[in-house]
Amino acid sequence: AEAKPSGGLLGRIMGRSQGEGAVARRVLDDEMLEQLEELLIASDMGVDTALRVTSNIAEGRFGKRLSSLEIKQALASEIARVMEPVARPLPLYPKKPQVVLVVGVNGSGKTTTIGKLASQFKAAGKQVVIAAGDTFRAAAVEQLQVWGERANVPVLTAPEGSDPASLAFDAMTKAQADGADLLMIDTAGRLQNRQDLMEELAKIVRVIRKKDPDAPHNTLLVLDATTGQNALSQVETFRKLADVSGLVMTKLDGTAKGGVLVALADKFGLPIHAIGVGEQIEDLAPFDPEEFAAALTG
Ligand code: GDP
Repeated sequence: AEAKPSGGLLGRIMGRSQGEGAVARRVLDDEMLEQLEELLIASDMGVDTALRVTSNIAEGRFGKRLSSLEIKQALASEIARVMEPVARPLPLYPKKPQVVLVVGVNGSGKTTTIGKLASQFKAAGKQVVIAAGDTFRAAAVEQLQVWGERANVPVLTAPEGSDPASLAFDAMTKAQADGADLLMIDTAGRLQNRQDLMEELAKIVRVIRKKDPDAPHNTLLVLDATTGQNALSQVETFRKLADVSGLVMTKLDGTAKGGVLVALADKFGLPIHAIGVGEQIEDLAPFDPEEFAAALTG
């Protein structure tokens, strides 16, 4: 196998043409469109989305001789266009407490994301409570306590193996009594036993609704960018388990460019509330469609 040329998607296409870098020019013909399609599909964008993006690019440009820069700009602006409607920060309600249920497979970055969000809301003057609802994973509870200390936010825990719904109920009681603005509830991510997990999540929702019929106000699904196309099936699965209202994609600081987010936006239209860009507490950024598209097109 040949080594991947650097410079992202575009470098890989223009690398097959005459010239170097920004001076390279190619006629936008069927062959090039096919290459574009292939590259977009290879970047986890999904077949349907890749076809749509390339056909939009072809419009008004087919048969023209284009520079790298022109192709890059066209590609980036088409991708940004798909992403703009889903770039929305977590909406804040006047409701006290606003209850945010956080779901996702183990290792996706739930705990870390909760810590980062807690820190941001705390910095914005909000009073935050965290419930360590993954009561079966002692390590997750400990990790959440560490994040709670860093963000200076109380973390409610329960003995290992105890009922997460009962912890969620206690957390609701505390958050209401304290007049907290925000309650974030971590949950288990054991997809091996879906029926179990579905019942567990349903029970959490049922008990917190005893305290507030509108809760949870948000159900955040945390996805790991490095899992590529798997993110699609995770969204499908978690939408069956919970009423997912928005996404956070983590680990976009690595080599993963998160091309699958384009497919997700196209297919589900769920808002992307934030992206994880590192392991530190400040490494949570708003999702910026233009920046994202520029990084993806290289
Ligand atoms: P959980 O099992 O879903 O709660 O996942 P964790 O929050 O424990 O995260 C799993 C691993 O991913 C940890 O090593 C985190 O430091 C790491 N992680 C989480 N978010 C990010 C991110 O945005 N960037 C990077 N590089 N690592 C992350």
